[in-house]
Amino acid sequence: MPGTETLNPPASDGATSSWPAWTEPMRGALKRHVPLAPMTTLRIGGPADWYYPAESVEGLVAALAAGRAAGVPITLLGDGSNVLISDRGIRGLVVHNRARNIERRGNDLYAEAGASLADLVSRSRDESLTGLEFASGIFGSVGGAVYGNAGAYGRSIADVLVWAEVLTREGERLRLAKGDLEFAYRRSGCAANGWIVLSCLVRLSPGDHAAIGAEMERIIGIRATKLPVDIPSAGSYFKNIEDPSAEYGKVPAGRLLEDAGAKSLRVGDAGVYEKHANVIVNLGQATAADVLALADRMKDIVRRRYGIELENEVRFLGEPMG
Ligand SMILES: Cc1cc2nc3c(=O)[nH]c(=O)nc-3n(C[C@H](O)[C@H](O)[C@H](O)COP(=O)(O)OP(=O)(O)OC[C@H]3O[C@@H](n4cnc5c(N)ncnc54)[C@H](O)[C@@H]3O)c2cc1C
Repeated sequence: MPGTETLNPPASDGATSSWPAWTEPMRGALKRHVPLAPMTTLRIGGPADWYYPAESVEGLVAALAAGRAAGVPITLLGDGSNVLISDRGIRGLVVHNRARNIERRGNDLYAEAGASLADLVSRSRDESLTGLEFASGIFGSVGGAVYGNAGAYGRSIADVLVWAEVLTREGERLRLAKGDLEFAYRRSGCAANGWIVLSCLVRLSPGDHAAIGAEMERIIGIRATKLPVDIPSAGSYFKNIEDPSAEYGKVPAGRLLEDAGAKSLRVGDAGVYEKHANVIVNLGQATAADVLALADRMKDIVRRRYGIELENEVRFLGEPMG
């Protein structure tokens, strides 16, 4: 694999580098052949052909516009906590959203999509605003949370969202109200419509600072007994199964997997987490191929035992393998 290169500043005579013209708006920060594994919580994945960390919403929009105009395939990466990146990497341009500003607006919080959900949750506590406690301990960016309608304990980001500003495939910036974002369980209309989330507003209400903090600690404490904090993973690998008669309207995929014997499964360095059968962990040098093979085995034992087809929650990005 070629080494990483950063785009050089223009030569003193004004001549530009030999990189293609579409890379111009990203000058100085764009890199080539960048390994993506360190940018994911699973610590797996090959290189991006081109990698651009967008530090502002304007930088993000400019990079997407430049890549799209040139017909370059574009992949947006948030905090990499819900993705499995191909061992062969990602062709084209990977834009890493790092626009992280958060502001209080009345009793609402405005966040750029690259802000971490954890920072938004902490900010709500610091401002004594209640409503985001359920999201304590969920990894990822605010944009990733809107894209996948992240949530826990029967609540999700859609419950507190007022609007999100998105960039459409046509390059238009639109402020969409919650009702137009097509939210469903662990899903929004972003994938189907090609919307990139730029920012959003969440509606909270004044609360008691100590009570908010205590509830967040309680939830983080519960999560720590079930989810790996120090071992690389992408959280739950499969979606829970929707069932109106079950608690929170879902049958946990982890319970089916556990009962079917998934905890003993391992492929290479990809294993099933000992405390949660719906979590795949990277025990060292796991590859995306290992994870895909393990996930196939997990689906297979649930299909054979229950006749249920598990659906991926973690998204595969990049060059197909196999
Ligand atoms: C230990 C652990 C526990 C977890 N627990 C939970 C949980 O309780 N509940 C839960 O819902 N999730 C959980 N997750 C999964 C993950 O935290 C969420 O899905 C998170 O919202 C993903 O955000 P991200 O920024 O990391 O997205 P990424 O992994 O970077 O990307 C995921 C997808 O979103 C797209 N995307 C990212 N940003 C944007 C944007 N701005 N606009 C459009 N598309 C975008 C990407 O292209 C990709 O397709 C957990 C993960 C871990 C590692």
